[in-house]
Amino acid sequence: MDFNFNPEDEAFRQQFRQWLDANLPENERIEPLDLVFEESEESWPRRLEWHRKLHAGGWVGINWPKEYGGRNATVLQQIIYEQELQRAHAPALISVGTLMVGPTLIRWGTEEQKQRYIPKILSGEEIWCQGYSEPNSGSDLASLQTRAVEEGDYFVVNGSKIWTSDARHADMCILLVRTDSNAPKHKGISYLLVDMHSPGVTVRPLVQMTGASGFNQIFFEDVKVPKANLVGEKNRGWEVALTTLMYERSGIGLQRDFVALARDLASLARMVTRNGRPAWEDDAVRQRIAQFACEAAAIKYVALRQLTRQLRGEQPGSENSSTKLFATELTVRMYAYAWELLGPYAPIVHDTPHAIDRGKWSYRMLAARSLTIGGGTSEIQRNILGDRVLGLPRG
Ligand SMILES: Cc1cc2nc3c(=O)[nH]c(=O)nc-3n(C[C@H](O)[C@H](O)[C@H](O)COP(=O)(O)OP(=O)(O)OC[C@H]3O[C@@H](n4cnc5c(N)ncnc54)[C@H](O)[C@@H]3O)c2cc1C
Repeated sequence: MDFNFNPEDEAFRQQFRQWLDANLPENERIEPLDLVFEESEESWPRRLEWHRKLHAGGWVGINWPKEYGGRNATVLQQIIYEQELQRAHAPALISVGTLMVGPTLIRWGTEEQKQRYIPKILSGEEIWCQGYSEPNSGSDLASLQTRAVEEGDYFVVNGSKIWTSDARHADMCILLVRTDSNAPKHKGISYLLVDMHSPGVTVRPLVQMTGASGFNQIFFEDVKVPKANLVGEKNRGWEVALTTLMYERSGIGLQRDFVALARDLASLARMVTRNGRPAWEDDAVRQRIAQFACEAAAIKYVALRQLTRQLRGEQPGSENSSTKLFATELTVRMYAYAWELLGPYAPIVHDTPHAIDRGKWSYRMLAARSLTIGGGTSEIQRNILGDRVLGLPRG
């Protein structure tokens, strides 16, 4: 592993850092590590404005080809981009369109679809959501039941999607539908681009245990979708869906600095008391936090090994599942320990009187569980590790 960036990459870092310093005023920066707060509805206008500012500066979709408005950024430059956004405490990105839909359309879309949708994804004029999961199809996504039937120039869609992030703000949805109920389950699925303002689309927000409502359930009742909005071939949408998932997984928060999170936990231990003294003075507390920091460092190096493989053009190894599993489970354990340190103060709602450290730990604790579910649950990651890495027999 070589931990140094070459001069070209360092120049890229400086260029972006200078742009951020000039374009992100102090009062628009968020609390470090608090991207979880950014899911709240109140933060949406700020995120949208930030997206548009990034776009005006040419800093959206940096990994896209230049001909589609990107910068052809390398994997390392994408990492530098993430690092600099974190360093600057920038608001969370609006990512379904740029991370998943754009690259999928570049790979599979018709020329008309590319012309029609791609510029507005970059500019943030059209917001996208991902209609994959259903009430009875999550981990086993290919069992999905939302149906689309051909009628003249349209598909007519009926069914429901759930856990759809940002659907309330979305203008468009990438939608997986069943177009052949008799075919084996992976072979009867099609991939549609659906206008969320179409008659028959209803979006119902779902309140999470944090009180935020970033998720939604979408209902489709006789929604007419032009056939021109089919991506790839009819009944072969699973291949297109996998492309989207590949881009989604490549972007799931493993760039996050878990060592910094352990450091933040250490600051909390200095704020709260145990037996009348700062908790940090208790050996057992320090040992526990040091243990978290060691695990966080181990995750960081496994993720770097994964990156090295990627840079060498090798197939991703088991590291993808192991970093996702261990990083998200470690996060939950760190937040649970913060609760232990906070004792009776733990449940106090964030940003209210008497809350310690703005009450951010209670919010984080409630929000963190979702990390172990989205992008493939911990159980599914364990199945992958058991099956493909350890070669265990299937039960
Ligand atoms: C933060 C977040 C954002 C999301 N955003 C979106 C979005 O924008 N669009 C979208 O379509 N979906 C989204 N989802 C949904 C997500 O993809 C699903 O929650 C996930 O795939 C799990 O599906 P499920 O919730 O239906 O759980 P299920 O699949 O029903 O699983 C229930 C439980 O059973 C376990 N389980 C299931 N199958 C197995 C198995 N084979 N072996 C062992 N255990 C098993 C699971 O691990 C879990 O504990 C989001 C989820 C989260 C948390």
